Amino acid sequence: MSALPVLFVGHGSPMNTLEINGYTQAWRNVGRALPRPRAILAISAHWFIGATAVTAMERPRTIHDFYGFPEELFAFEYPAPGLPELAEEIAELAKPTWVGLDRDQWGLDHGTWSVLAHLFPQADVPVLQLSLNALKPMEYHLELGARLAPLRERGVLIVASGNLVHNLRRVVWQSEGGEEWAHRFDDAAVSVMAEDPGEVLVLQDHPDYALAVPTPDHFLPLLYVAGIAAEVGTAAQAWLRGCTLGSISMTCFGIGMESVGCEQGTDGAKLPAGVPADQTNL
Ligand code: ZN
Repeated sequence: MSALPVLFVGHGSPMNTLEINGYTQAWRNVGRALPRPRAILAISAHWFIGATAVTAMERPRTIHDFYGFPEELFAFEYPAPGLPELAEEIAELAKPTWVGLDRDQWGLDHGTWSVLAHLFPQADVPVLQLSLNALKPMEYHLELGARLAPLRERGVLIVASGNLVHNLRRVVWQSEGGEEWAHRFDDAAVSVMAEDPGEVLVLQDHPDYALAVPTPDHFLPLLYVAGIAAEVGTAAQAWLRGCTLGSISMTCFGIGMESVGCEQGTDGAKLPAGVPADQTNL
């Protein structure tokens, strides 16, 4: 089997699960172009804990890890199966980094299912989640990402889900675009991921870093994609771009996206809902 693409998706609001807008339509288009993988390894901003773990249950539950959203979002289920033997394979691959097997605690959180609801709406491909270890430095996540690179040849689609700019205290609810600082940081991330993803941590020195990344959780998933890109010696191109609500970047990156006919970043905010794939570059 040839190497599968690797994705980073800017997930934004949990409501994207139910909405068809420019971003979610683009996710759907990409999902249709992707080959059917053996399994999906999701790395979600919303499983940010004091350990590195991978879900290893047969039937991961759908976790509704938010409040204040409509009832229909709490009723949403993503009933994809797990794949316990793959969890063991991942723990082996990650050595000497220790990865715990979570047999009964977590499941699939909205960072994962808000995106997979569009990429794989049938929920019939096994899904595992990898936690983000909150106790480790940034370099740890880059290195762990690099170790996961061989999964691409084993039929596993890695989908990292966060937001490279994510500042809830700066949200402007009426805004469909981003503040200037958000676009500046987004542009800088797009450049470094395209030119030298192994150097992604230089973003910590960017003047807008403190505003863009007030907490690491939504930024860290990007480091796994950067680590894999650096490991295999390739770029991670932005395949969808945009900022919303003033302080959230919806920009998505990918490795190997040319194989699904999608290399250049379209501005998701400019894509009307329901645009057929052949009328965009997605
Ligand atoms: Zn989130």
